[in-house]
Amino acid sequence: MRKRFIAGAVCPKCQAKDTLALWRENNVEVVECVQCGHQMREADKQVRDQVRTNEQVIGVFHPE
Ligand SMILES: [Zn+2]
Repeated sequence: MRKRFIAGAVCPKCQAKDTLALWRENNVEVVECVQCGHQMREADKQVRDQVRTNEQVIGVFHPE
């Protein structure tokens, strides 16, 4: 299971920076904060916005 850290992302729960790891689980993108364990899924609009915002910054996401 590959996990990638989202550079510059801030956890919406504990406000920690650079603690959000992202990976795919059953074709769903999962984001988890390694600091507080807060977990979000792609279906969550907040996650989508966060990923979209950061994907251009780190450039590890595939364009649609
Ligand atoms: Zn957190």
